[in-house]
Amino acid sequence: MSDFPSTARVVIIGGGAVGTSTLYHLAKAGWRDCVLLEKNELTAGSTWHAAGNVPTFSTSWSIMNMQRYSTELYRGLGEAVDYPMNYHVTGSVRLAHSRERMQEFQRAKGMGLYQGMDLEILGVDDIQAKYPFLETHDLKGALYDPADGDIDPAQLTQALAKGARDMGAKILRFTPATGVSRENSEWIVHTEKGDIRCEYVVNAAGYYAQRVGEWFKPYGGRTVPMMVMSHQYLLSEEIPEIMQWSAETGHKLPLLRDVDVSYYLRQEKNGFNLGPYEQNCRAHWVNPADPMPEDFSFQLFPDDLDRLEHYIEDAMARVPLLGTAGISKVINGPIPYAPDGNPLIGPMPGVPNAFEACVFTFGIAQGGGAGKVMAEWITEGQTEWDMWSCDPRRFTDYTDNALCVEKGMEIYGHEYGMHFPWKSWPAGRDRKVSPVDDRIRAMGGQMGAYNGWERANWFAQAGDDTSLEATETWDRAGPWEARIREECEAVRDGVGVLDLPGFSRYSLSGAGAAEWLRGMISGGLPKIGRMNLGYFPDSRGRILTEMSLVRHGEDAFTLITAGSAQWHDFEHLKAHLPAGLTLSDETLGYDTLIVTGPKSRDLLSSIGEADFAMPWLSHQRAKICGKNVMLARVSFAGELGWEVHARDADMPEIYDAIIAGGAKPFGMWALNSLRLEKGYRAWKGDLSTDYTLYQGGLDRFIKLDKPQDFPGKAALAAEFQRGPSKRFVTLLVDAKQADAPYMSTLWHDGQVVGETTSGGWGYRVNASIALGMLRPDLAEPGTEVEVEIYGERCRAVVQADQPLWDPENERLRA
Ligand SMILES: Cc1cc2nc3c(=O)[nH]c(=O)nc-3n(C[C@H](O)[C@H](O)[C@H](O)COP(=O)(O)OP(=O)(O)OC[C@H]3O[C@@H](n4cnc5c(N)ncnc54)[C@H](O)[C@@H]3O)c2cc1C
Repeated sequence: MSDFPSTARVVIIGGGAVGTSTLYHLAKAGWRDCVLLEKNELTAGSTWHAAGNVPTFSTSWSIMNMQRYSTELYRGLGEAVDYPMNYHVTGSVRLAHSRERMQEFQRAKGMGLYQGMDLEILGVDDIQAKYPFLETHDLKGALYDPADGDIDPAQLTQALAKGARDMGAKILRFTPATGVSRENSEWIVHTEKGDIRCEYVVNAAGYYAQRVGEWFKPYGGRTVPMMVMSHQYLLSEEIPEIMQWSAETGHKLPLLRDVDVSYYLRQEKNGFNLGPYEQNCRAHWVNPADPMPEDFSFQLFPDDLDRLEHYIEDAMARVPLLGTAGISKVINGPIPYAPDGNPLIGPMPGVPNAFEACVFTFGIAQGGGAGKVMAEWITEGQTEWDMWSCDPRRFTDYTDNALCVEKGMEIYGHEYGMHFPWKSWPAGRDRKVSPVDDRIRAMGGQMGAYNGWERANWFAQAGDDTSLEATETWDRAGPWEARIREECEAVRDGVGVLDLPGFSRYSLSGAGAAEWLRGMISGGLPKIGRMNLGYFPDSRGRILTEMSLVRHGEDAFTLITAGSAQWHDFEHLKAHLPAGLTLSDETLGYDTLIVTGPKSRDLLSSIGEADFAMPWLSHQRAKICGKNVMLARVSFAGELGWEVHARDADMPEIYDAIIAGGAKPFGMWALNSLRLEKGYRAWKGDLSTDYTLYQGGLDRFIKLDKPQDFPGKAALAAEFQRGPSKRFVTLLVDAKQADAPYMSTLWHDGQVVGETTSGGWGYRVNASIALGMLRPDLAEPGTEVEVEIYGERCRAVVQADQPLWDPENERLRA
């Protein structure tokens, strides 16, 4: 083929809504020398048969951002690229059957408002004004989203494709990619029609993404964590009443979602489209007996209506008009799921210059935003919004096929489920356990999964309600509350122990390691024998990550970071690592205990040989129960304390001795409360790429006068001159039943003036605490603002820029 492109900057594999949106956004960013390969016709995967619903609703800030952006893009797209299409902005009514659901809606409304949208809470009596054919007697209320609607997915894809082509990008249809190889830091994407050399590759292969992902394994890749569900919707025959209503009003009915029952119901022409997410759901192609076909382009699964009976009946009771018409058509198609239901958008773990934009469950609603995000990753190496919720590196080595299937089925069956802060979903658990897991559970540990590692959230006592149902609340109160208090008080008054398996740790060494690190972080390095926090900015001065830097020698370090940051942080270091330095991930094989409280020294010195007089932020190799350990004199709980790092094999004996010595086990929820009282930031809440280091109040970790030109230095220097646009604050909140969740809006004089980044109850200070970002002129201590917590405005007062508990760190230094 003469016009076959043998080179390109970017090759995208997959021509669904997401791949074409990526191509469109790359071209818009000026990257026109890009090629999209589609093995069949555009849309041949999941896109052609999608229902095309385009909601903005999400309780995730970043997903809402993506979906909001999609709606804004789609409104103007037809005109922008001269490709008219069917996009109906009908609004939607989302029904609530419980107080908790109304609280969820209130939270989404607050976030939506902050993103410039006008979501509206409807009382039961208001619902029929929006949706006349509905039974409302058993409802609590509803949420109205005026931006919701539906789009023709094929037209959307063609419009994006036209826009991209018009800007110079190329689309090769009927051109399957057959493999990749790498030569001289370039990718070669193989097709049946020839090879294309390129700088970057994007896996946008939809439900085929795992298959395409296999090609990258020789270059450091892993199995793409995903599975495939079958998802159905039914189209009804025409219904005269709907035809008449639409003719009279001049528009379609709003999209209806009965999320507590788990279906949507949409007007399709003059009938209905009913789409349930059923609990009795069905996975496909997940075991060798049911292999994925080589090609499934434009194909569907056979109808399977029995599974949907309950939902059809429920919908007919809710909207009796539905029962007046027969079913005219059933669509049953493949839909891919990642283990948390969010897509994979971002760097392909372990592989240079390769990206993923795949495994979309809502790729029509998210496709517009996803294309923007993907193009930013490629062209700038960073994204406007923090996109950790979709970052492929959030899944690490625990996502085997069985886990993907279990989690996919769980999420599909609870597609509209509420994600309560206390609820640990049961599927796909016990993948990675601590060497003292048996002891933790025997003492009542109620477990949660953190990067696949099981850790105790709290310790129940006999008679406590440990059922899943008890966790289905946004409120602070629950069986755990008294126990968290006891755990915090033990840490305050005596000594507590928290087992923290899966704390990520890397070893860094080699001549020049210290100098290299100085060029990566904004602040200074610890002296040998000491440790401190290092902040890694991106080129905009935003917070990529935070690590504890433990210095063993001139050029020898252990770097410790959050469990969930394991792959993210390792890849960040590796991507910049100069030749001659050695970096290795030492997470496996070690376990960590936090032993903290005023009596921790007495306890540890009774079973250990170490210098327990060494100061705060020191570390040493020592022995506990005769076993080799590293002791780090730090405490995320903000009391006298040590982290005990030991080999897995040695930990049971050490743990038993610590418990026998009188330590009370405490869990992650107590730790969260304790750290809030100290103003210690948590990664991907308080610390994220949504904020610069100055906004995050990390001034004392920024050394603009050091010689190293660390990433973001110039941006931070400029920000220092003009002053940050937000300031990190600690607030004491007159909260009622619930404490402030992430992204609760802050109000002043009737205006939104900031947001919380985390919140919870402090049991040592006996108050509700929120950490957040506030307009700088309001960040003065004593300023009164309001925090909107699940729709309720609560008075909050800005606190001095110091920890609420032990402001001088005297207890830590004791
Ligand atoms: C019944 C049903 C209803 C749905 N309704 C909605 C909805 O209302 N709203 C919503 O947002 N989402 C909906 N979805 C989900 C939506 O369809 C998907 O999330 C979306 O289509 C994914 O788009 P994509 O571009 O990621 O993948 P796909 O559309 O699957 O595109 C991937 C493309 O990659 C191509 N490809 C694969 N391998 C290769 C290769 N080796 N070389 C070249 N090309 C390759 C495939 O041919 C395919 O065209 C629905 C799904 C189903 C099943």
